Amino acid sequence: MLKPFFAHSIFLKINPSTPLTMLRYCTRCVMPDTKPDLKLDEHGVCNACRSYEHRKSVDWATRQKELEQLLARYRSRDGSNWDCIVPVSGGKDSTTQVIRMLQFGMNPLCVTASTCDLSEIGRRNIENIKNLGVDYVEFSPNIRVRRKLNRLGLEQVGDISWPEHVGIFTIPVRAAVQYSVPLLIWGENSQNEYGGPAAAAEKNALDRRWLEEFGGMLGLRVTDLIGLMGITPRDLIPYQYPSDDELQRVGVTGLFLGHYLPWDGLANTLVAVANGFESYPTVIEGSVVNYENVDNHQTGIHDYFKFLKFGFGRGTDLACMHTRRDRITRQDALEMVRRHDGKFPWTYLGKPLEKILQPLDLSVDDFIKICDRFTNKKIFVRDAKGNLVKDRSGNLTKINYDNPP
Ligand SMILES: [Zn+2]
Repeated sequence: MLKPFFAHSIFLKINPSTPLTMLRYCTRCVMPDTKPDLKLDEHGVCNACRSYEHRKSVDWATRQKELEQLLARYRSRDGSNWDCIVPVSGGKDSTTQVIRMLQFGMNPLCVTASTCDLSEIGRRNIENIKNLGVDYVEFSPNIRVRRKLNRLGLEQVGDISWPEHVGIFTIPVRAAVQYSVPLLIWGENSQNEYGGPAAAAEKNALDRRWLEEFGGMLGLRVTDLIGLMGITPRDLIPYQYPSDDELQRVGVTGLFLGHYLPWDGLANTLVAVANGFESYPTVIEGSVVNYENVDNHQTGIHDYFKFLKFGFGRGTDLACMHTRRDRITRQDALEMVRRHDGKFPWTYLGKPLEKILQPLDLSVDDFIKICDRFTNKKIFVRDAKGNLVKDRSGNLTKINYDNPP
């Protein structure tokens, strides 16, 4: 039985007379309490900020020793097989994961599940990882099937990136079974960095249950898709997790590097850039930085839907991380969010929305209708008739961007 992380987000029931609900924001970062599983404590501080506080007391030297012991246990004794699998997207985090494994003397097999609409810069960053000196497998699920899955994900659960989010977990695990390499090196435990149930935050290994709960499946199971848009079981092989028997035969396990080494996206960027990683020339649409999510033109749509459902986009995520680390003030974060977060995704990494939607056989008008269906009308400004108020660029306004004074 699946207990998906975002299950309560599916099919938001919108009634035009729905009363407005003020968003409550964490008093330390700028995350609203609409974020699934976010809890504000009696001081109004969110669990992600509290979790970051705990990191300050972590004995990283001991953790690193634990990591070295784990890696030693899995290293191929006679060099006849790879030591580990590193799932890589080509982004700054996975570039750094590969560099770390090489620094620890590991011989990784890097596995990429290619993104749904790979950008040119994303391609160059993939080639860059190959140049770090590793064996590399790039797996590209059937593009025609994937377009159907993008569209079904968008229409059914408001997530165009559903197939990608499933594939980035299933494909490397399938590769672990295929190549008989038991150890998977994941990056951060998103439940730790972003908050979430305590049990998951303390987890440092990944299993099927983790994927099903937190892997972003949004309650839409792979098998639910059979029969839709002509999809048959054989179209879905890459999205199926290996069987328990297969996992046991190889002894597949995984660890989150972020549990053992202090994890910070900006520090990873610096390491990655010094090793050939390329950032985007300007701030990315809907974001407040230029160094992450540079590999998929559909990401702008994905992030925009998070804004429509919960009132925060990628810009808020990033502003929160940097506020937590005292790099910017909370006021700076509020201003960045107000300026960039949740803007209608007319382009992403320079590609026009119309062109991004074309392969999905959707027009911009179709897209806007889907957006409206998934918008949580309780948190956005509406007119007297209850219709969403949009500016000339189609942007919505939240009813509040901070806690009332
Ligand atoms: Zn917070």
